[in-house]
Amino acid sequence: KCAEVVDAIREALKKHNFSDHVKVVLTGCMGPCDMGPVAVVFPDAVFYRRLKPKDAEAIVLEHIIGGQPVTRLLYRVPGEKDPVPSMYDIELFKKQERIVLRNTLYIDPLSIEEYIGRDGYAALAKALTRMRPGEVVEEIKRSGLRGRGGAGFSTGMKWSFSAAAAGTPKYVVCNGDEGDPGAFMDRSVLEGDPHSVIEGMAICGRAIGAEQGYVYVRAEYPLAIERLEHAIRKAREFGLLGKDIFGTGFNFDIEIRIGAGAFVCGEETALLASVEGRRGEPRPRPPFPAIEGVFGKPTVINNVETWANIPAIIFKGADWFASIGTPKSKGTKVFALAGKITNTGIVEVPMGTTLREMVFDIGGGIPKKKEFKAVQTGGPSGGCIPARHLDTPIDYDSLGALGAIMGSGGMIVMDQDTCMVDIAKFFLEFCVDESCGKCSPCRIGTKRMHEILERISTGHGREGDIELLVELATTIKTTALCGLGQTAPNPVLSTIRYFRDEYEQHIRDHV
Ligand code: SF4
Repeated sequence: KCAEVVDAIREALKKHNFSDHVKVVLTGCMGPCDMGPVAVVFPDAVFYRRLKPKDAEAIVLEHIIGGQPVTRLLYRVPGEKDPVPSMYDIELFKKQERIVLRNTLYIDPLSIEEYIGRDGYAALAKALTRMRPGEVVEEIKRSGLRGRGGAGFSTGMKWSFSAAAAGTPKYVVCNGDEGDPGAFMDRSVLEGDPHSVIEGMAICGRAIGAEQGYVYVRAEYPLAIERLEHAIRKAREFGLLGKDIFGTGFNFDIEIRIGAGAFVCGEETALLASVEGRRGEPRPRPPFPAIEGVFGKPTVINNVETWANIPAIIFKGADWFASIGTPKSKGTKVFALAGKITNTGIVEVPMGTTLREMVFDIGGGIPKKKEFKAVQTGGPSGGCIPARHLDTPIDYDSLGALGAIMGSGGMIVMDQDTCMVDIAKFFLEFCVDESCGKCSPCRIGTKRMHEILERISTGHGREGDIELLVELATTIKTTALCGLGQTAPNPVLSTIRYFRDEYEQHIRDHV
């Protein structure tokens, strides 16, 4: 659909002999899913939404040539009479701060020249020519960047472990196996700005002494794979990957590994096994991948969003990055807003933004005048947060204190009609399906929990079921081998914590 609109705009420009005055760029995802296809006309950043090819003529004739925005195609706040022409005045964009998504609104992801035109690869040049490897690691440490894949471990610390580890060769790995239901942040970055990931990985290669990187992407993301392949080819052509980069003697190259869609392969030890061509099953840690990763060698593994932050940090400096966010959670976070919310899509906000701002300002609130009930953060392993905690700032520690997690950035909003027992059952079912079966707490325990939820939700709940759920959940959390099992009970525990009355109601009504 977007491509049809682009073609129509190009045709209209040609028809009116205006092609030489305007550049039409097909960018990556701009974020507002439910408003697509969208277009932004610069320099005034006039935002058009829900476009059809037939709208191209009006945009070209009335706006681009005539200088008057086409009012009927502009964004309107529901219930408000006047449209909002500039993208920067729309709440959805106004409260965002884009570091990871710094380029996705502006560049053609197939053009390395456009990436370079927005300071792309300048950070790599800086890291190679003006910094020693140890300084690069220190800079990332000082920035306070924490892994955006879910665990939130200090990225700089991780790099320092690999840099100091004895084994060679060393490796750099990108986890692009985004599998949470309702999450599409990494996909958006890979499709819209693949060079930011390549550059981040190359900087790390320099910092820890690695010459080989792997990007692990799920097969369900064919466009991301295509654009990444293209970007890697172009980076090699431009001498930004391969031998003797910038004439410094530094060698670094990247290969893509395509995952077959197993959720557990997002767990880092399973992913590394899969990169090696083995079955994607987690293994106990330690040893941690930073010391023994791919092929048993020191490996830094970070997710797509973490990598995309790296060039911006090196280019602008750790102090700049650390000035954004909260004392313990620096920078920004990309979220995929989904569920019962007006503005669904991808947004990037400074850490410390409250859940209320996310849901009601950026997300535009709950459609059809329904009441907000809960927001699920952290995907299938996250927790459901009720209305009374809407003023919680989004950071690793505050979400953790509520029994939820930051996770990789899925954020699903629920309204008054949502049954929280059904929600818990839905997420747990996902984990039951995706459990690799290696350890019994997860393989058997989550299945038993699901059976209890099934009987509660279908009217066969028994007294003592809630206590049994909590007991099982607590055991699984403390005994499962990997993060999938350890966090799988979170939706059940958080819904029991905040919506116990719904469980009791289900059981009472049918006992
Ligand atoms: Fe596999 Fe689940 Fe055990 Fe992880 S916790 S190793 S997914 S069975």
